[in-house]
Amino acid sequence: MTSGRATADVAIVGCGPVGALLANLLGQAGIAVEVYDRERDVYPLPRAVHFDGEVMRIFQMARLVDEIAAFARASSKGMHFVNAEGRTLMIRRGIEGPGPHGWAGNWYFHQPLLEQVLREGLGRFPNVRIHLGHEVGSVDELGARFVVGCDGARSLVRQAIGSRRVDLGLHQPWLVVDLLCDLGRPRVQALPDHTIQLCDPERPMTVVNVGGERRRWEIMLMPGDDPERLAEPAIFWPMMARWLGPEDARLERAAVYTFHSVVQQGWRKGRLLLAGDACHQTPPFLGQGMCAGMRDAANLAWKLAAVIKDGAGESVLDTYESERLPHAQTFIELAVRLGGVLQETDHAAAAARDRRFAAGVEMFDFPQPQLGPGLRLDAPPPVGTIFPQPRLTDGRLMDEAIGRRFAVVGDHSLLEDLRADAVLLPDVGLDWLKRHGVRAAILRPDRYVFGVAQDRTELAAGLAAAKLA
Ligand SMILES: Cc1cc2nc3c(=O)[nH]c(=O)nc-3n(C[C@H](O)[C@H](O)[C@H](O)COP(=O)(O)OP(=O)(O)OC[C@H]3O[C@@H](n4cnc5c(N)ncnc54)[C@H](O)[C@@H]3O)c2cc1C
Repeated sequence: MTSGRATADVAIVGCGPVGALLANLLGQAGIAVEVYDRERDVYPLPRAVHFDGEVMRIFQMARLVDEIAAFARASSKGMHFVNAEGRTLMIRRGIEGPGPHGWAGNWYFHQPLLEQVLREGLGRFPNVRIHLGHEVGSVDELGARFVVGCDGARSLVRQAIGSRRVDLGLHQPWLVVDLLCDLGRPRVQALPDHTIQLCDPERPMTVVNVGGERRRWEIMLMPGDDPERLAEPAIFWPMMARWLGPEDARLERAAVYTFHSVVQQGWRKGRLLLAGDACHQTPPFLGQGMCAGMRDAANLAWKLAAVIKDGAGESVLDTYESERLPHAQTFIELAVRLGGVLQETDHAAAAARDRRFAAGVEMFDFPQPQLGPGLRLDAPPPVGTIFPQPRLTDGRLMDEAIGRRFAVVGDHSLLEDLRADAVLLPDVGLDWLKRHGVRAAILRPDRYVFGVAQDRTELAAGLAAAKLA
């Protein structure tokens, strides 16, 4: 164990997925970072199994895609909400081929492996020091210029900030079971590739193909269930009988969690900041809790770099919460709505729900919300939304050509002779620009759209607002 008193630019409390990613991104930016985790090993119990194409793009920024693609399963399939009779009510669409971010739209994975890769990634940076088995007892122990609490749902840093909890209404215990299946068994082979949300009022469940031999069951606790006993194989196997039996698979791990829907107001107080589950929690019905934390890390990393390396004013850091909170909340509210469909246990209400979907299957996608107000022009979407990642004519993905900087994409006639402290990419993203009826876009280092322009005058004004001209 090393002394907590440090001279680092940034101390990160918690080396779960969010803290570890943030440390990688800051390490890459040349910032001196100290990361602390009270545990020596990554958390072993079942948690996240899904991340989306935007998060893979963030891993690309962290230069860890190959390591992650080596164990994560890319999927073109979506998520099907099916009633007790097997009729499909709703589908979250899959995405064929590389999606808008240049990577498959959905990835399934084993969270401990991801956390391990993120931790190993820190070894690349002499400016990042990791202290495992070191519980931070007070933020006063940390002498760093900034302290980021990536310390999960019971965050100590959040207590020091005194954030205000906003309850979004859903709190429900579920049993989560990870199985290692025998892939030679016919019933295992018959399991679908897409995710199933079984909206059965007798017992709502989720079934996920995590990849390889691994399959995930999430099973809602019903009144009268004993949470202590539910994780016992003799109790949970009969609940899965319609799919598998103990002869088809062996138990890897099982745990009961209460799924929450909460956001915190107050992500920054002076040098203290929050990211990940420390400032928002969602039920996992969209597979987006960790994803939101990864987006926090991507948003915060370039702003911290701007303050620490480039001398930007610290007020830049206030745009982190104003941008990210409404974005994260949009996903949580959709997850709560989906939970309302999935978790209905009253038979009459479930029948009424099924009738509402009788006209046809409701199709939906992940939301692509606009960031809240912050470091962007005050304009409607597409300003403040994530820009896609097209492949350039030389074969590279766009972000590879930009690096961690601002960029301008657009019609070459607008970019000709342009002087800007940004990477210029003429004739890139033209489909997107056309779809939005604009001729150029200014992209931030996290690839969210700072502003759009119809002509040179608007572009010049946007660049001036971004302090790039
Ligand atoms: C059943 C389930 C399914 C899920 N499925 C998905 C999914 O499919 N997709 C998805 O995106 N998300 C999913 N999630 C959510 C996801 O697992 C979490 O959002 C994610 O783990 C949060 O990461 P984090 O780094 O913010 O916090 P955590 O993973 O909780 O990490 C916090 C770290 O901080 C450390 N720590 C805490 N306090 C201190 C201290 N005082 N000093 C030192 N260290 C400290 C802890 O030891 C821990 O390592 C799921 C969650 C559950 C429970």
